[in-house]
Amino acid sequence: MSVSTGLRVLALANQKGGVGKTTTAINLGTALAAIGERVLIIDLDPQGNASTGLGIDRRSRGISTYEVLMGDEPLKAAVQATAVPRLSVAPSTLDLLGIELEIAGDRDRTYRLKNAIRRLTEERDTLPETLRFSYVLIDCPPSLNLLTINALAACDSVLVPLQCEFFALEGLSQLLSTVEHVRKTLNADLTIHGIVLTMFDPRNNLAAQVVADVRGFMGDKVYQTVIPRNVRISEAPSHGKPVLLYDLKCSGSQAYLKLASEVIQRERQLTAA
Ligand code: ADP
Ligand code: MG
Repeated sequence: MSVSTGLRVLALANQKGGVGKTTTAINLGTALAAIGERVLIIDLDPQGNASTGLGIDRRSRGISTYEVLMGDEPLKAAVQATAVPRLSVAPSTLDLLGIELEIAGDRDRTYRLKNAIRRLTEERDTLPETLRFSYVLIDCPPSLNLLTINALAACDSVLVPLQCEFFALEGLSQLLSTVEHVRKTLNADLTIHGIVLTMFDPRNNLAAQVVADVRGFMGDKVYQTVIPRNVRISEAPSHGKPVLLYDLKCSGSQAYLKLASEVIQRERQLTAA
């Protein structure tokens, strides 16, 4: 944890859809909360899958990340509790689809989310305990648009979910160069936290080769933990629950618990450095 605010902000980003960003946000968030962290998931995808997967249906979204980015509401007003103790979510709605046009002409357009998070940390001492987060996880949309740029400008570090499939490495270099660009222009302290390989299927001969290729290319930036393809993971969102609540014993839940301890370990190394 950073000494000044006690808050670490991680963005889950990959411009490809369906690679496990939202699943990782929900389940890494749940696992971090289970080991005592106080976690806020910020849903920055207009599709709102993280919000739905955490049991916040469309009717009960109230204040969303749209109002927060518009500057109409503070982030704390959007925060909703979930069924998981110590895990909250700032939900999104389809309104977010229009935000790019609405704020395109504003000088602070890339810093809207950063400013909102900064306000939350500045007010920390006056807030109830439920709003004193130790981790923020930002679930990005499948695009390198202004929403993702806001996330990259606001975060300490990027966590990249990568699906174990043939084209996994394609697109990664584009993401890495976007991160590099943001580091040069908007967020000098930005780091890559790590790459998490998702949906690994041991019956698929190609999958092991993909894992080896990605490790060869990215070295120890790749987490040791690989998330298996597991049907329980894909069933859980329709019950509005993280897989850790839906079936704690399944291989997917156990993998996300392992990932959380690796993330914490890496945090200690990053913040001690
Ligand atoms: P993204 O947010 O990157 O678009 P999602 O997290 O929504 O990706 O995942 C895409 C789909 O794959 C979802 O239906 C999700 O339930 C499913 N899924 C994600 N990870 C796994 C996994 N490890 N095993 C099985 N299904 C998964
Ligand atoms: Mg998603």
